[in-house]
Amino acid sequence: MPLDVPGGPPPGLAGPGPGVLAIDVGGTDTKSAVIDRAGNLHGLERIPSAHDERRPGDAVAEQVIELARTYTARFPDREIDALGLVVPGLVDDVAGVGLFASNFGWDHYPFRDVVSEATGLPVAFGHDVSAAGDAEMRAGAGLGAEDAVVLIIGTGIAGAVFCGGRAVRAGGYAGEIGHAQVPGGLPCPCGATGCLETLGSAGAITRRYTARTGRPVSGAREVLIAGQAGDEDASEIWSDAVQALAFSICQLAAMIGTETVILGGGLSQAGPALLEPLGRRIQEQMSFLRAPRLTTSLLGQDAGLIGAALHARDLVQARA
Ligand SMILES: [Zn+2]
Repeated sequence: MPLDVPGGPPPGLAGPGPGVLAIDVGGTDTKSAVIDRAGNLHGLERIPSAHDERRPGDAVAEQVIELARTYTARFPDREIDALGLVVPGLVDDVAGVGLFASNFGWDHYPFRDVVSEATGLPVAFGHDVSAAGDAEMRAGAGLGAEDAVVLIIGTGIAGAVFCGGRAVRAGGYAGEIGHAQVPGGLPCPCGATGCLETLGSAGAITRRYTARTGRPVSGAREVLIAGQAGDEDASEIWSDAVQALAFSICQLAAMIGTETVILGGGLSQAGPALLEPLGRRIQEQMSFLRAPRLTTSLLGQDAGLIGAALHARDLVQARA
């Protein structure tokens, strides 16, 4: 399974540096790979993530530790100096703790210490979307940008925020724009009403279309195509999503002067069909303020894994 990145691994990974193991734990799948000291990638794999509602943190940590053992045995001559681990949810990357993840159920689980102790490796622990954002900024669509937001739009919506070239983490609480209110927003599984992701996510588009028409669809793309073919329900739902995203992006631009918005996740695959109407809607609302440049992710689905590897290399270099 090769990295799904045009032009191969990005700078920072492609060159010489510490050898690292990168692991990206997702709600469904866990991705892993070794990057050796020459910057070559080995053994990229995707396996189902461990779920155990009684001991969710332990189950994922054990799977990560087992992966580390397997890679060490499989690549005995590739020296691994550190492990980069990223997980979803709310993450305190300074403390090395997974605070909360709705799709797993852990509560303040000390991933960094547990995994580091069991493997004997230094562990760079972080948030999957923050890591994906870092990777985009250092080696992808955000290269050269200072004030940027990376929005991953899939089942839900999560963001990574950069101001003046620096990532804003706020102990894990920055970037949760999917759960900020937008006009016309609906009740959200998080308990609030009006969250951006109840209108603007791929999950919302699919769900709302089926609820309104009774017709099941495979995803937001099918709703987009139906809208383009003249289905009014489909175009209205798509337009609500664009309006909600435009609202949130305008708030960001007005508040922190965001100059670049990098869209990733499933919905961004719509490309110009999303970017063009979204750009127009933002322009209409910005008056004298600077409308951000919209672009799509360059690193795609591998951004989180690449970010985990970059963090692990940073950790080794900082200790040297
Ligand atoms: Zn919510």
